Amino acid sequence: MSAVADALSPPASDEASAEEYLVGFRWPAGVICPKCGTADPGVRSRGPRLKWRCSSCRSDFTATTDTAMHGSKIGLAKWLAAIWSWDIRPPVLARELGISAPASRRVSAALEMSEKPPGESRLAALLTQHHDPTKAMRARLPATLQPEDNPIADLTSGQRAVLAVLRSRLRGTSVEQVAEAAGLTVGHTRGCLEFLAERGYARCEQDASVPWGYGSLTVALWALALTEESATAMAFLPWRPEPVAHTCPDGVPPELWGMFWSGSNAKDLRLPEDSFEVACNLLDGPDPVGRVWALQHLPVDALRQCRTMRGYDMEPLASKIDAALAERAVA
Ligand SMILES: [Zn+2]
Repeated sequence: MSAVADALSPPASDEASAEEYLVGFRWPAGVICPKCGTADPGVRSRGPRLKWRCSSCRSDFTATTDTAMHGSKIGLAKWLAAIWSWDIRPPVLARELGISAPASRRVSAALEMSEKPPGESRLAALLTQHHDPTKAMRARLPATLQPEDNPIADLTSGQRAVLAVLRSRLRGTSVEQVAEAAGLTVGHTRGCLEFLAERGYARCEQDASVPWGYGSLTVALWALALTEESATAMAFLPWRPEPVAHTCPDGVPPELWGMFWSGSNAKDLRLPEDSFEVACNLLDGPDPVGRVWALQHLPVDALRQCRTMRGYDMEPLASKIDAALAERAVA
C-alpha cells in the first residue's frame, strides 16, 4: 500500500478484517464489557462498526471504547497501518495514510505516548491508554508529588502562560496564536517557546501542513512534547491562567484576552473608551473570573448600560450586576 505500511506489514488492510483483528486482539477469550466486565454481551448491531450493549450495565461499546482510538473518525485499517509504522511523524502519516493533518497529529501523539515499537506491543499499549493525551500523561504520574519536585518553580510568568496555552492546544499552534492566547508579544513568546523546548516541554514541527482555505499552508507548529518531563510539569501547572505582567493598565488584562469573541481584539480595546464592549464580552462569558473582574473594574456606566439590555436582565446575571452596582455605589 505504501512505504510506511510496507516497512512492517499490518495485520489487516480493510475495515472489516481490521475490526475483526482488533476484537480478537482485545478480547482473546470473548468480548467483555469495558465498563463492568460482564462477558459475552452479544452483538447488538452492525452499523459501520460492531456495537454491543452490555446485558448487565446497559452501556454501549465498540472495539475502540476506552482506548486511545476512542472517538476517532479514522478507519481502523488506517490505525493499524499507523501502529505498525516506524515513521510516525505527522506529515508522513498524513501522506501515507491519506488522512488530514489534524488527524495525523492526533494519531502521532497517541503512538508517541505509548512509547512502544511498532506492532502488537504498541497496539496493546494503546488499548489501555486514554484517548486524551493529557489524561494519558497524568495517568502515568507518581501518586504522590511533593512541592519540592516542582520542575517549573523557576519558570517566569510568561513561560508558564505559554506552557498553559500549549496544554490547551495539543494539536499544535503557531507562535502568533500562542502569543495571542498568552497575552505576550510574538518576540517574547518565541523566546519562551525556545526555552521550553530546551527543557523538553515543547517541540516544534518546522514544516507542518495545516488546512488553509481550499488547500493547505506550511507553517512551524509548536506543541506540548509528550515526555515524562512535561507530564510532571503539567501536574504543577494550574488550570486557571496565571496573571501575566500587565504592561497596559488602561487595557484588558492579558489573562482575559482568550475570552473575547472573534471580531473584537482584546489587545486593542482601551479603557474607559471601550468599556461597554469589554463588559458585553466578559459579563456573560464562560469564565467567572472575567465576570468578577468586569464587575469590579469597569466603569459603573458601562455596567448600567449592559444591565438594561436583553440577556443581561436574566437571572442569575442580573442580580450579580445589581449587587455589584449597589456595592460600588456605597464604596
Ligand atoms: Zn457492562
